[in-house]
Amino acid sequence: MSETILQNPVTVLRGVGEKLTLRLSEIGIHSLEDLLFHFPLRYQDRTHTTPIGGALDQHDAVIKGEVLAAAVTMGRRRTLVVKVEDTTGVLTVRFFHFRQSQVAQFRQGVPIQVYGTVRRLAGSLEMIHPEYRLGHSANLLEDALTPVYPTISGLGQTTWRNLCQQALKMLQEAPPEDLLAGITDDDITLHEAIAFLHNPPRTAALSDIQQGLHPAQSRLAREELIAHQLTIQGVRDRERRHSAPRITGFSPLSRQFLKNLPFSPTNAQERVAEELAHDMAQGSPMLRLVQGDVGSGKTLVAARAILDTVAAGYQVAFMAPTELLAEQHFQSLEAWLTPLALSVNWLSGRIKGKARKTILGELAAGTVSILVGTHALFQDEVVFRRLGLIVVDEQHRFGVHQRLHLAAKGVDGGHPHQLALTATPIPRSLAMVTYGDLDCSVIDELPPGRTPITTTLIDTDRREAVIRRVGAACGNGRQAYWVCTAIEESDSLDLEAAEATRDYLGEALPEVRIGMVHGRMKAPEKAEMMANFKSGFIQLLVATTVIEVGVDVPNASLMIIDNAERLGLAQLHQLRGRVGRGVVESHCLLLYRQPLSETARERLQVMQQTHDGFVIAEADLRIRGPGELLGTRQTGMAQFRIARLPEHESLLIEAQAIANNLYTEDSARTKALIARWAGPRADFARV
Ligand code: ADP
Ligand code: MG
Repeated sequence: MSETILQNPVTVLRGVGEKLTLRLSEIGIHSLEDLLFHFPLRYQDRTHTTPIGGALDQHDAVIKGEVLAAAVTMGRRRTLVVKVEDTTGVLTVRFFHFRQSQVAQFRQGVPIQVYGTVRRLAGSLEMIHPEYRLGHSANLLEDALTPVYPTISGLGQTTWRNLCQQALKMLQEAPPEDLLAGITDDDITLHEAIAFLHNPPRTAALSDIQQGLHPAQSRLAREELIAHQLTIQGVRDRERRHSAPRITGFSPLSRQFLKNLPFSPTNAQERVAEELAHDMAQGSPMLRLVQGDVGSGKTLVAARAILDTVAAGYQVAFMAPTELLAEQHFQSLEAWLTPLALSVNWLSGRIKGKARKTILGELAAGTVSILVGTHALFQDEVVFRRLGLIVVDEQHRFGVHQRLHLAAKGVDGGHPHQLALTATPIPRSLAMVTYGDLDCSVIDELPPGRTPITTTLIDTDRREAVIRRVGAACGNGRQAYWVCTAIEESDSLDLEAAEATRDYLGEALPEVRIGMVHGRMKAPEKAEMMANFKSGFIQLLVATTVIEVGVDVPNASLMIIDNAERLGLAQLHQLRGRVGRGVVESHCLLLYRQPLSETARERLQVMQQTHDGFVIAEADLRIRGPGELLGTRQTGMAQFRIARLPEHESLLIEAQAIANNLYTEDSARTKALIARWAGPRADFARV
């Protein structure tokens, strides 16, 4: 049977002894299947030589010539410099690490081939530490594109290539079973796809492969996405099998809360509140994500679920990723719930000693019903007596695992309901990958009375005019934010930039009351400053990007963002969402510094053209790619081997439908697919 070939241990390959077996098993590679599903990260094109005169800057090339001269120079760094010549020009090759014996090899007139990245400097062409071969029979050329594997130290590219070539040969005799046979209609078989990626022929278009668009990649990406959706289904299924408290929605407590509010919920808020109430009445855990643009009023919806839970006699944990954000939730909940005679409690990493003991004791005893805090709530020592609901804000900053860890804090083996809130709109494809185990509700309507924001891009040279504009706005009773980021990325430089800005704004606008908030401030100081800004005493708030989330001051109608080109789209969108919350027209001025990179220009233009969080998120995904968008590393979001977003978005949508079907209809294939793709993904060095 073909499957048995793939299931063979790597030890069937020549040259795989005890040591290598161990090394491979450390990164999750045990069978030939594991090995062959460890795909190259990229490819080198060594199929042809490039004349020196035609070499392009920043491109890899094989160059064939003769040694013209070689010498060791003693500048700042001892360097071996070799001049290589062909009929079209001269290339300078530099080595910083070399042995004396190497120097003598580079005799004038010796044939040489080098492979490396060409750099064009003023009037000269260079290569640093290329691979090289000397002599008449030297040959760096290859028949096919050369795969470069993600690897770990001590496991060289030659070893990877050798092992994969051997394994491919074995497959030739007995092609592996196609787990998608009869399900999808690919033009290319599994076997062909695998062989192609490990061994792309010289005719293969490198540019297609680089973009992830080759049919071999689509074939495998499709399978990977199906396997991933199946894994998510499994997680979701297991979670759903737990019991959860039955909570009745629209309790007297939450109705009283609504009555106390000076406004009524939007239709969207009302619809989502109904969805939550429905979920929480089921007796199995609610697993729901509420997505809504900045200012759409997610907290209000969460508050109603919280009150229903408390009314049913259960406890609630409300968690946010940063202290500032957690604190703001704490404050708004406190303001809303104190009139209902409920107390809201606070826990962060900074609460220590006796205070901590007290709060933990009360939680365990069940006398505390609402606890707001940071990830401190995940810790094992935090024990609830009757935890009924977990609310997690800015969901994507926490991993699925953290969320499930907290879910295990439920009552009597049951699990609490889970409500995730995210203000960062993410494209549908990413949501499916990241939150696939959650049901999704969208608050797609802003509360009435919000006014549109005009966004203008301004060269930082015109800063004086901007300062005058801030002065005028404050003179007219408005308030403004001035957000500072340093030219380089660094917290301490951001702080310096903010301090410098506050100082010169103070000089330029002596009549304006200026305050400042930054990430290094103690929580009470920060809270006091924010309160002073909210009350209107402070007119101009100079801030680092700590105000990104959660701050709500309707009278602030002007925002300046310094070095806006340095910030990502999601961050700019979050920041801008701080204005436009009142009745006067708001303005956001994005100050940028020339020269702008292509992507920076594109980002700023997107900001100027749209306020729609989803459009911005789509653009962000396109410009940046998903890893950076979600901070993949921190969240433990699936790192795909082959699949890429947004390139494979259409495959993903199809994969979800296929997975839903397979999960219920074909448990054998489901298991095989999950096993094939869900192996451990080690954190490989990027080579
Ligand atoms: P989000 O968390 O979605 O960014 P918030 O829940 O912080 O938004 O709400 C933003 C502001 O809008 C808050 O001041 C809140 O009190 C207010 N708000 C919420 N819902 C409504 C509504 N239906 N009508 C008017 N104001 C609302
Ligand atoms: Mg909020």
